[in-house]
Amino acid sequence: MPTYEYQCKSCGHKFEEFLLMKDRNKPTKCSCSECGKKEVKQGFFTAPVGGYDANLKPHSDFGELINSIKNNGSVPKKYHDRLDQSVDRTGGRLKTQ
Ligand SMILES: [Zn+2]
Repeated sequence: MPTYEYQCKSCGHKFEEFLLMKDRNKPTKCSCSECGKKEVKQGFFTAPVGGYDANLKPHSDFGELINSIKNNGSVPKKYHDRLDQSVDRTGGRLKTQ
């Protein structure tokens, strides 16, 4: 399941929400856990790939994968095979070089 990060417009508190892809552009119905206000803005989409791939473990493999994409703009070679599988399932495309 993809994870989306939200930030409270009022106090700046950040939190994460799990949303289906089809719901990603909907405003979150959650209120801020800090101040209780409902004015939150959607921030960074934190799980573009691993959320769809059961072969990627969320806390180890996935973190490394996302960091590599952020820092280098590419996917580590050891994940290429697994990403090929996930591309088949999602129809999405990732740069693998
Ligand atoms: Zn708040």
